[in-house]
Amino acid sequence: MSGASPGTVERECVEGYLYTARPFELWIFRRPPSRGGFWVPISGKVEPTDANFEAALRRELREETGLERPRRVLPLDWQVPFDAPQGGGTWRLTAFAVEVDPTWRPRLSAEHAASERVSPSKASVRLHYTDNREAVQRLVERVLPGLGPGALEPPHVFAQVGPELYRDLRERHPRRIALQVPAGLVRNAHELAQQIREATGAPVFLTGRACFGACDGPMPDEVSGADVAVVLGHAPIPNMVPPLPTYFVEMRHPGGNPQRLAEIVAAARLPERLGIVASVQHLDLVPGLERELVRSGYAPRVGTGDHRLAYAAQALGCNYTGAEAIAAQVDAYLFLGTGRFHPVGLALATDRPVHALDPLQETLEPPIDRGAIVRRRQLLVAGVRDARRWGILVSTFAGQNRTATALTLQLRARRHGREAEILTFSRTDPRDLEGRALDAYVNTACPRIALDDSDLYPRPMLTPPEFLMALGEIPLEPYRFDTYH
Ligand code: SF4
Repeated sequence: MSGASPGTVERECVEGYLYTARPFELWIFRRPPSRGGFWVPISGKVEPTDANFEAALRRELREETGLERPRRVLPLDWQVPFDAPQGGGTWRLTAFAVEVDPTWRPRLSAEHAASERVSPSKASVRLHYTDNREAVQRLVERVLPGLGPGALEPPHVFAQVGPELYRDLRERHPRRIALQVPAGLVRNAHELAQQIREATGAPVFLTGRACFGACDGPMPDEVSGADVAVVLGHAPIPNMVPPLPTYFVEMRHPGGNPQRLAEIVAAARLPERLGIVASVQHLDLVPGLERELVRSGYAPRVGTGDHRLAYAAQALGCNYTGAEAIAAQVDAYLFLGTGRFHPVGLALATDRPVHALDPLQETLEPPIDRGAIVRRRQLLVAGVRDARRWGILVSTFAGQNRTATALTLQLRARRHGREAEILTFSRTDPRDLEGRALDAYVNTACPRIALDDSDLYPRPMLTPPEFLMALGEIPLEPYRFDTYH
């Protein structure tokens, strides 16, 4: 199904690879002889009436197999452009893994003549298209490490380190607890480890690698010997499967006065149609602030994002889909939290004025100058348009691994006569890129590395959409933020 020519994607399609966790097997489906008789996954076109790709997939699953309630739908971050039948231009497949109950059986439609549940290796042999086999490999890489005990229980979520967390941990009688502390809390890490050790009676090992984001959870090798993990400062990412049972302590902040914050907003005459976004630590303030804003004559809106966000109003530095969902109903966004990291991402993703309000200091920052950031990025893109030798960076962290994107970009680069080498890293470090015979990089890991830290690297570093701009496949305007789903 490969062989598409570069250019605009005319039609989006979705594919679902159905699997059971125990035993770890895949459902494959055979087309009728009149349609080639091949073994394939479930697939179909995204229709204008589908809210998003996942909705399209769920509709196809219902229509083609009768599946109403999958146990889990995980994006495989696998997109494959292909030539449509009868010269219909370039179409693109987006693949998902779909966990089903072991007792489930498909109810076949006219699309398929047979179905079978087989091991992943057998599925790889039987599936007709190379892309299908690569997607199975992707599914195995993404799902299999999580099929430890962590895959079978939902994440445990706590607001704070305290008696409730200790009680739950004690009841598990863990042999060893792996504790991960975000970069911003490392000063307190040893004190927190000591508290958990004393309160639970279990040995606590701190994972030494600094953790920067919600996707950056403990890796299987870091928790070896532990039977439970405690992750501080982050909410779970719903479409990520941790390697073992995980307790997320979100470090919610109880402070902040909604009435006072609404007064600050009104005094600054921010637009009435205001979208609210908050860091996880300040999400508890959102309902109260909404009420106070309504009292002051405002029309606040809160959006719900995709499967990478656990809460309404929440944002990740790579994903502002909650805010994007309400973009048509708001004239500006109010971000509750500290620092510029989220306001910059929000401004880039939504193209609306973003006002950052520190709920504890009660300070309102002037809007982010999106135009200046975009111009800087566009200049960077323009400067590497003629770069011949590209390095495509791929992170091996489960929550940042976009191997499929990297392979697609490599294909695109070669079609434009560029050399493109894929380099894998756990965490990218500028020193690892020194002395290489490459002109520029595209980073498929955390989008914020290219956007916020590119000055640290020895060569220009772009995000995947910026790379497509550099190849001339998409225009510089409107600027496209690199959203990670
Ligand atoms: S990819 Fe980057 S921005 Fe997104 S959750 Fe991970 S560290 Fe945060």
